Order: sequence, then C-alpha cells, then structure tokens
Amino acid sequence: MWQAEVRVDLDAIRENVSRLRAGTTAELMAVVKGDGYGHGMVPAARAALAAGADWLGVCTLDEALALRAAGLDAPVLAWLLAPGLPLHTGVVAGVDLGVASLSQLDEAVEAGRRAERPARIHLKIDTGLARGGATVADWPALLDAAAKAQSDGPVEVVGVWSHFVYADLPGHPTTDRQLAVFHEGLAMVERAGLRPRYRHLANSAATLTRPDTHFDLVRPGLAVYGLSPVPGERYGLRPAMTARARVMLTKRVPAGAGVSYGHTYTTERDATLAVVPLGYADGVPRHASNTGPVQLGGVRRTISGRVCMDQFVLDCGDDPVAAGDVVTLFGDGSDGGPTADDWAEAADTINYEIVTRFGSTRVPRVYDGAVP
Ligand SMILES: *Cc1c(COP(=O)(O)O)cnc(C)c1O
Repeated sequence: MWQAEVRVDLDAIRENVSRLRAGTTAELMAVVKGDGYGHGMVPAARAALAAGADWLGVCTLDEALALRAAGLDAPVLAWLLAPGLPLHTGVVAGVDLGVASLSQLDEAVEAGRRAERPARIHLKIDTGLARGGATVADWPALLDAAAKAQSDGPVEVVGVWSHFVYADLPGHPTTDRQLAVFHEGLAMVERAGLRPRYRHLANSAATLTRPDTHFDLVRPGLAVYGLSPVPGERYGLRPAMTARARVMLTKRVPAGAGVSYGHTYTTERDATLAVVPLGYADGVPRHASNTGPVQLGGVRRTISGRVCMDQFVLDCGDDPVAAGDVVTLFGDGSDGGPTADDWAEAADTINYEIVTRFGSTRVPRVYDGAVP
C-alpha cells in the first residue's frame, strides 16, 4: 500500500521523443539535467534514447558521469562547469564539455592533456541571454585560442552553440535577433578556421516552433517530458508525470473552523476535512497555499489553508471522502484532473519548476510503461 507516489510513464517520454524526432532532420539531444526534470535522470535518458534521441544533455559533470556509470554510452554534453573541477574524468568518460571563456578553455586543454585524449568541446556564444556564453566581443579571441589549442592537440572543437531568451513566446523579436547574432558568430567560427560538426541553438520551444533554428542538433528538455513551453499549446505531447497521494485522515469540523498554520482558511459551513500527506518537503509549493488544485472523488478541489512541510488539507464540504481515497495533484489531464500547468498557474511559476520539484524527494517514484 502506498501513501504518496510520483508515477512516471516512460511510454509517454518515448512518444514525446518520437514526435520531436519526427519534427526535425537534425540530431536530437534529450536534456535530462535536474534529475530529468524530476522524472529520474537515468530512466528518462534510457527512454529517450530508446525513442531515437542521439545525445543527452546535462548541466554538471557529476550528472554526466552518473549517466556513464549507469552504462549509457550515447554522446553527452555537460555545460555548467565551475572552475577547478576534475574535467579530465569527463574527458576519459567521453563527456563533451561546454566552454564559454578563455579560462574554461584552459581547463579543457589541461583536462585533454591529463586524459591523453582530446577534450571534446562545444564553444558557447552569448547571443542575448546574458547568462552562459562568451559575449560577441570576446568571441573572436575565444575562437582563435580554441583553434590554436585544437591544432596543438588537446582539444577538439565539436560544437558551437547558444541558448534562447524568449523562444517560449513564438514570434518574439528577440528570437530573430539572437538567430542573427548566432549566424554572425558562425561566420567568425569559419574565419577562425574552425569547422565544428555541430551547431546547436534550439530548446523545446524552438524545436517545436522554429525549424530555422534547428541547425545540426536540437536540445529539447521540457517537451521530452510531455509539457509544453508555450502556455495554451500542447503540440500533441503527453505529460509523463503524475503526482498523487492517499487521504490520510478525514474529520467533520463545524463552520468557522480555521484550517492549517496561520488559519489562512476558515470553513464556511460544517465540513469534512481531508488531510493529504504531501507537503513542501515533497515538492508541493508552499506558494500554492489556498490555490493548489487537486482531483479527489472525481471532483476538482483547491487546497484549504497553508501547505505544510509534510501535508495539506482539503475542505470537502459534505462529499463522501474517506481515508485511503486517492488525491491526484497533477497528471496528464486526460481524466479532467489538474496538470502541472494548472499548478504552475496556482503557484505563480512555470511547469518546469513544478515537475522538477518532485524529483529526488522522499516520495517513491514508480515507473510505468516499457522500461528500456
Ligand atoms: C535546460 C536547457 C535546455 C532545454 O530547455 P527546454 O526549454 O527545457 O527545452 C536546452 N539548452 C540548455 C543550455 C539548457 O540549459
């Protein structure tokens, strides 16, 4: 008997990757950072590869090494690398490294020397996000240094890439501007004498809406898990994650009863309260106090009062709810129940954060569908 669980449908991940795969002639990198957006990095990666993903994308070196330790030998790119990491372990494991500065290039060179094989690097240009990536001003010097390091031997420039600001707002002019800067950056790559095999730019939103940004490789994350980066659009994707719990306790209380910490909710009439054993330690945003939607007994309800660390309460009125009944927080929405999108709206955040919050918590994760 289970008390709370996060179910992940690996068939949904496969279908989503197949759909993305069918929408591009580029290679496809399934982004599995952040514990596979909360779905479990290794199972998500296996499902994505089984459906035709060519690459895996992660942030940290440790994530990349964990994929290798799980026996996955697909190309992997790791792109969030603080100074001083043992990058040679990544090079030995065949992990490609994102490089955005001269000092990162130096570290990659050193890693290639130590590993006694070239560090495979992807040079990142900042086309407008002002996060990772070399500025256009710093780009030529980085390219020249990379070209020299490549001819010396310890690095191989495999890719050139960037990341979008606003691809989730199709038609936003920033996307066109970034694409133009990327093209300029690619021209400089040519002038520096580099011929990288992979040029890549597209996240989920651009993979779904901007084929002119696909280049040689697309990098969808969110869409792999069946969620849409563009509010109100589904793109035929199927959400893979369902979060649910069983009612732990019910009780009758009179009208005017204050509910949960701070009594931010008060019953309007005599009511049955249902206590649900999931809280912010499990991923339920406290910000969804008095707003988070659930489905219980075929009825949509809203959390009553504060979300606590371990539990929250529902005012079920006179409905016949009982301990053990299943409360669905979110799923694929096919039964009329709430989705991660609904939770994002209720908690004033994005669907990315909702599913990612439910990764690696004390709630058991259960896999459905064919395990590759
Ligand atoms: C997270 C991430 C992605 C995937 O973005 P989605 O919007 O989830 O598709 C792609 N590229 C980079 C650099 C990222 O950090």
